[in-house]
Amino acid sequence: MKVQNTLATEVSTTCPYCGVGCGVVAMPQVDGGLEVRGDESHPSNFGRLCSKGSALGQTVGLEGRLLHPQINGERCDWDRALNEVASRFRQTIAEHGPDSVAFYVSGQLLTEDYYVANKLMKGYIGSANIDTNSRLCMSSPVAAHKRAFGADAVPCAYEDLERAKLIVLAGSNAAWCHPVLFQRITQARQENPDLMVVVIDPRRTATCDIADLHLAVRPGSDAIVFSGLLHYLAQQGEANPLFVDHCTEGSQQALAMAAEVAPTVESVAVRCGLTAEALSQFYRLFARTERVVTVYSQGVNQSISGTDKVNAIINCHLLTGRIGRPGMGPFSFTGQPNAMGGREVGGLANQLAAHMEIENADHRDTVQRFWQAPTMADHAGLKAVDLFQAIESGRVKALWVMATNPAVTLPDADRVRAALKKCDFVAVSDCVEETDTTALAHVLLPAAAWGEKDGAVTNSERRISRQRKFLPAAGEARPDWWIVCEVAKRMGFAQAFDYDGPAAIFREHAALSGFENFGERDFDISGLSELSETDYADLTPAQWPIRQAEASTPRLFGDGRYFTPSGKARFVPVEPRLPANLPDADFPFVLNTGRVRDQWHTMARTGKAPRLSEHSPEPYAEMHPQDAQGMGLVEGALAHIFSRWGEAVVRLRLNEGQQRGSVFVPMHWSEQFSSSGRIDAVVNPERDAISGQPEFKHTPVRVVAYEPAWHGFILSRRKLDLVGVTYWVVAKGEGFYRYEIAGEQAPENWPAWARGMLCASEDDVNWIEYLDQGARRYRGVRMVNDRVESCLFIAPSHDLPPRSWLAGLFGQTTLDDNERKGLLLGKPPAGQKDVGRIVCACFSVGINTITDAIREQNLQSAEAIGQALKAGTNCGSCVPELKALVAGAK
Ligand code: SF4
Repeated sequence: MKVQNTLATEVSTTCPYCGVGCGVVAMPQVDGGLEVRGDESHPSNFGRLCSKGSALGQTVGLEGRLLHPQINGERCDWDRALNEVASRFRQTIAEHGPDSVAFYVSGQLLTEDYYVANKLMKGYIGSANIDTNSRLCMSSPVAAHKRAFGADAVPCAYEDLERAKLIVLAGSNAAWCHPVLFQRITQARQENPDLMVVVIDPRRTATCDIADLHLAVRPGSDAIVFSGLLHYLAQQGEANPLFVDHCTEGSQQALAMAAEVAPTVESVAVRCGLTAEALSQFYRLFARTERVVTVYSQGVNQSISGTDKVNAIINCHLLTGRIGRPGMGPFSFTGQPNAMGGREVGGLANQLAAHMEIENADHRDTVQRFWQAPTMADHAGLKAVDLFQAIESGRVKALWVMATNPAVTLPDADRVRAALKKCDFVAVSDCVEETDTTALAHVLLPAAAWGEKDGAVTNSERRISRQRKFLPAAGEARPDWWIVCEVAKRMGFAQAFDYDGPAAIFREHAALSGFENFGERDFDISGLSELSETDYADLTPAQWPIRQAEASTPRLFGDGRYFTPSGKARFVPVEPRLPANLPDADFPFVLNTGRVRDQWHTMARTGKAPRLSEHSPEPYAEMHPQDAQGMGLVEGALAHIFSRWGEAVVRLRLNEGQQRGSVFVPMHWSEQFSSSGRIDAVVNPERDAISGQPEFKHTPVRVVAYEPAWHGFILSRRKLDLVGVTYWVVAKGEGFYRYEIAGEQAPENWPAWARGMLCASEDDVNWIEYLDQGARRYRGVRMVNDRVESCLFIAPSHDLPPRSWLAGLFGQTTLDDNERKGLLLGKPPAGQKDVGRIVCACFSVGINTITDAIREQNLQSAEAIGQALKAGTNCGSCVPELKALVAGAK
């Protein structure tokens, strides 16, 4: 692996987005830009990147960065800001005790940042009120792994995906959420046509593109599917008695429960909304295939019974002994780049550091002696949803949010926002200045961003990789570990937080993992505890446990030994439960939230990359066409979504892949990007009683047509202050901002209204415009020096010209006569083509270009499209869509 840890030509680092943990080679350019490519030598991705990773170079500019510390909106120096945070926390603790303060942290933090934050809260403040946004995506697998294996240990490695004969993807849209793993599976299928793929998901997602079988289960019924599978395997004599007898315990109780709740394939099929034939096909496939990997992700985890669902999956692997060997095992795909690292340092409120247990007095003693901590927390802290409810009730009075945006991402998000508003003291450290959460902070602390700091992350297969610095810090930004340590010092803990850099923190973290371990704890990286600065700088990716330097372990449990007191894996009897809230006459649909292909979290970084906004520029709801019938809900119109907790307005997409009775809405849009797309305001706050993970996949909602007086869009080279607009969404384009807008009242004078918004002054105005006042149609284009400066289109319905051709004009310095004639039509003159909505984000290939090529060149496959247009040949994320276009053309 090439490592040059200087601000020089090429630096090997890792992608800051999802839990795949791809290696990235960053190449800072002399002009200040950044080029990236996949790191061919990184064992997670072998050179591949998805659309988000490929666009990292577009996200590192200073636009939107938080550059200086602030107190109550006023710039101040670091000393004042740090003193303010330390004194407010000290004062609150003195008056109300350690449990009156809290940290809410993030899977975006590096391990070293996470380690010191956890050490400060649990060992020095003496509370366990530190929880992380990883609670929202993978705390159910953590709890399930502990129940089954006695430790939060992921048994598999990515190479098991290539060595499997059957891959079951349960609640995982890997094609969009873990794209590089999806690419690895796709390639494995090409090389091994015997590899079968089963997708279990209520929606027909892009992942189904490679599925031999798609089980479109009823939302929330996954545990029944796997309980039925367990019973079926036992009945069919597919158990592995040697493994079950020697390596597990509790099989009888689990099997008895499965027999009771899932007595026949037919009964399971009825409860899950499947045909008995399809379900039998899956069961037979699982039964006869030794090498089977079952992947689970948010679709399983984000449920009030997420922990049970994961255990229902693990039970099937334990019964068949399919764990700890190549090509098999239960496999949690984590959401965030360092969700696993956060688990390792104890970043969840119910954990201690180094995978030790907070309820275990021996573990508390071990950690306290290692840290020489004055005040160890002796009970679990508040999990994410409970934490914000405690803020609402006034029990928690001072909060520090690090690298996350809970005002958008927590369920019942309006209530969270209200809680933050009334909290006595809120500090936020972030690299972005304007988020829904920073808007509610008393103190803002500018954090170094990706590329500006050094540290480690751990991906879904337990692989620790380095993130490396290759850019100078923006403004006065500092690494999170430094900010935490400076606050700790000011709280009176100078000696314990006197690190000279992230390597020293990492060494301590590694040493703690081996401290009095004796092989009893799964997480042990003591082999890395004596790394020199150079060793740390050059650290190559390796999977834990790493008990001696150079020794890494691709998969766990090959020896049949687990971390339970008996050393045996535990079956867990699972009684499937219904979701917390069921649809009724008032709220007849089930809302399911998730991710889109090209965005990450609340778009604070991916929203800066024009090419990532092209595929889904607006928040949307997907519904089955038959559900929409007769409700005024038509493709492209606006839909108002209500639940008992909140509301949102989003664009409607009709999709036959959406299960009837359910609605999918992505979770990315915040108030920075839309007026009313914060879908987590609609999501119910119920959570799994064991893991605390919220039920993001199941909220009863009502969907009605939202019918404003007018609809429109604006493309503008500069950001605008919108006036008289009730619905808006902004997306960054190449050289312009795109606004989708709508209003409930028509302006009296459309031209005056348009000019008021689009013109800095009247002097430089060269308008081309069209007005039909009676029909509420207005079109205006503002030209400056022969180039388009902005354009605005208004109509009484959402039926407006496509934006793609007009958007392309913002890349031109002059327009010819024909193009000027086409301006108000919003479509190209004869001889020019509109590329249409962008499908391939990497090469900006539009849908019209693709469909024309399919028709004119008789292209029969995604590969053929790739050869003709390059679409789909870089990250491959759009390949499922290309295949759908080919199929649609037949
Ligand atoms: Fe980054 Fe994409 Fe790899 Fe995830 S799959 S780590 S988002 S490049």
